[in-house]
Amino acid sequence: MQITSNFDSGNIHVVDASNPSNIQLEIKQDHQSEYFQWFHFKLHNTNRCEHVLHITNAAQSAYVKGWENYQAVASYDRQEWFRVPTTFDGKQLTITLTPEFDSVYFAYFCPYSYERHQDLLHSAQLNTHCQLDVLGQTLDGRDMSLLVVGEPSADKKNIWLTARQHPGETMAEWFMEGFIDRLLDNDDGVARALLNKAVFYIVPNMNPDGSVRGHLRTNAVGVNLNREWQTPTLDKSPEVFLVREKMLEIGVDLFLDVHGDEALPYNFLAGGEGIPSYDARLKNLEDKFKAILLATTPEFQDDKGYEKDAPGQANLTLASNWVGEQFKCLAYTIEMPFKDNDLLPDPAVGWSDERSSLFGRDFLTAIYHVSDDI
Ligand code: ZN
Repeated sequence: MQITSNFDSGNIHVVDASNPSNIQLEIKQDHQSEYFQWFHFKLHNTNRCEHVLHITNAAQSAYVKGWENYQAVASYDRQEWFRVPTTFDGKQLTITLTPEFDSVYFAYFCPYSYERHQDLLHSAQLNTHCQLDVLGQTLDGRDMSLLVVGEPSADKKNIWLTARQHPGETMAEWFMEGFIDRLLDNDDGVARALLNKAVFYIVPNMNPDGSVRGHLRTNAVGVNLNREWQTPTLDKSPEVFLVREKMLEIGVDLFLDVHGDEALPYNFLAGGEGIPSYDARLKNLEDKFKAILLATTPEFQDDKGYEKDAPGQANLTLASNWVGEQFKCLAYTIEMPFKDNDLLPDPAVGWSDERSSLFGRDFLTAIYHVSDDI
């Protein structure tokens, strides 16, 4: 039996893989950080007996509540990912599977590879409405890539989307893939109407280094990018520095920052109610945006989510709060589950790559309905 993770976004430390019925594994910490939760590895064994895999340091991970009622994902072909029986006893996470083939991949959530990221960017640039820009480089020397969709013009709104500041939240880039696919569909009336009055600035992956390194939450030097928006530096957080500079140059009329939440089994939004500039106009925009999403898809709800910030108490180091305050605009953090949407559960796949992409497409409808008011 071999267990390996020496590949794009791989993460596991093998403690003992001598006995299929008692495999001992640990998740590695993000480099120069204490965060860990993302795992991704391959198990190869010609003996297709029952395999019991224990992740023995699960109780020390970043979000222990993330393991409650959580089912890991697995795949034989790296295309179709299915949920596998998983339990958490308060100490270790235990995954049980009798493989149907010799080789099987396991992950925290359906991975979104660096190669697929490149495919997404470069297929988008073939569209006549789309331009692929490079803002600069990350600390590991990867491109910070920006897609500009629509013809820039002074009378158009500037709409920004970012995803995967937290690299282990791969559902965020699956969301982006669906969003971009619909936005670039020349037969989609909502997309065409939007591009008549808005330009989209899209960063599908804010943290390519952390993504390739198999991190949960930080970049190459262990920095949580979603706490860097007030004072980013080229030394520690060039990803935020570069995107923020471009935002200050272009302006922002609407901002969406896409994430995944380890614990809550729902899709929800976190708004700007705690920023100093929050007022009736912003509240009306938020309410309208959420009402349209509720009417558009049963995958969205507005009852469960994060505790609301008290007036004036928002943490302005977070992207959506900093942007909302800086540009006095509608700015939301979008959260999707690692587990499932408990209002519409699908035990076979849980919340998934495909559902994330479809959810991303639905956001075009909500943006369209507020586009004259932002
Ligand atoms: Zn996040």
